[in-house]
Amino acid sequence: MIETETNNGWIQFLEFIQNRCTSAEYENWIAPIQFIQASPEEITLEVPNIFVQEYLLDNFKDVLAHFLPLKHTGDPAIRFIISSAKKEIAETATPLIEPEEPALAQQEIKLNHLYRFEHFIEGPSNQFVKSAAVGVASRPGKSYNPLFIHGGVGLGKTHLLHSIGHYCLEHHPKSRIAVITTESFINDIVDALRSKSIDKMKRFYRNLDVLLVDDIQFLQNRLNFEEEFCNTFEALINQNKQIVITCDKPPTQLKLSERLIARMEWGLVAHMGVPDLETRVAIIKQKSESRGFDIPNQIAFFIAEHIYNNVRQLEGAINRLCAHSRLMAEELNQEIVEKILSEMFQMSTSHKKISVENILKGVATVFEVRISEIKGESRHKEIALARQVAMYLAKELIDDSLMKIAASFGGKTHSTLLHAWKKIADQIQINETLRRQVQMVQRNIEN
Ligand code: ADP
Ligand code: MG
Repeated sequence: MIETETNNGWIQFLEFIQNRCTSAEYENWIAPIQFIQASPEEITLEVPNIFVQEYLLDNFKDVLAHFLPLKHTGDPAIRFIISSAKKEIAETATPLIEPEEPALAQQEIKLNHLYRFEHFIEGPSNQFVKSAAVGVASRPGKSYNPLFIHGGVGLGKTHLLHSIGHYCLEHHPKSRIAVITTESFINDIVDALRSKSIDKMKRFYRNLDVLLVDDIQFLQNRLNFEEEFCNTFEALINQNKQIVITCDKPPTQLKLSERLIARMEWGLVAHMGVPDLETRVAIIKQKSESRGFDIPNQIAFFIAEHIYNNVRQLEGAINRLCAHSRLMAEELNQEIVEKILSEMFQMSTSHKKISVENILKGVATVFEVRISEIKGESRHKEIALARQVAMYLAKELIDDSLMKIAASFGGKTHSTLLHAWKKIADQIQINETLRRQVQMVQRNIEN
């Protein structure tokens, strides 16, 4: 009873401030806070990082005091759990280093020992980005700088980032290397501000030879941190120190300052695509062998045909099969595999395979042009736009080489396709009508 009342306090607080801050503030700072539990003495909240906690207390301490239990000091009695810290403890490999001691940091650098170039399976979708990574690791600061790797979830971005770290440590043992997640960079700044050691922290970052930054998309909407990151970035690049960044989207689609986006495009922007069938089979074979478990080719193909857009899911499938066959000691056949992996197959197959023809149909309907016009040469404004949207969607949604996709548009070149893709990717950031039209086509195709 009392518990519910205290929880109500949090809900009332949310209702109270919802109309008193901008919707952007609410979305960025308040919405990510999770209510965990409440007692008459205190309330527990989970925050994504310490900065959200500070924001809440800096801005709303007094208001909170009206709604929540109080400490004897009169401050609201809130216990915070930081979810990023929780996640980091749960993960075996934490790409974190201690910023306090520059001399020690290098020895303590924690790279996932499995994420090495030797364990990375190459195929047409990732050959380019892998060679760029090897290039950077062989001659840090001297080839592409920064190297910006972007692509979907579970496709091996973190794997390549750590591979660069391992390679550098082995081949350039004197170089100072740090692998960080964007969250940990932000937490470092906050901690340093607190303990008044910001200069030390800046010195640490700016004295690095190689800075590997994972998941830069989390820097979005973090204005103060963005500036600090940008300064660190410039300081390193100006001294020809290597920076590698991973992200779930290309730089132009990031909601960051123009200055930082331009910097990130200075070097090489490389896309990590979805591996094709043969590559997925090779990954299944390698991962199962490394677990001392042999999956016959036929079964490997069967799995690869059903799970196709995420390597992490492939690994999950192998783990399940591995566990099952250890327990049951029975030979794997297609039927058993289908049974064990049925949920995962459903998840993957719910994404229908999309063809250029599907896309052309969808675009033709929404943009009210003919398919033959999209495939043709007309430069008429409406037709050219529809054509560019179709090319954009084809590149986004189809797991095939750019050359092949471009050819399906009446023999266009892959640079025409890329140009169209970039143009629409930029336009949908600023043009609401176009964004809606593109979403409408996408929904029609995927259903
Ligand atoms: P991302 O950072 O892009 O979300 P990860 O790097 O975490 O993805 O990769 C997810 C899992 O898939 C990791 O265990 C990684 O080793 C594995 N993986 C991804 N791509 C490959 C590949 N080409 N070869 C071997 N393993 C891969
Ligand atoms: Mg990752």
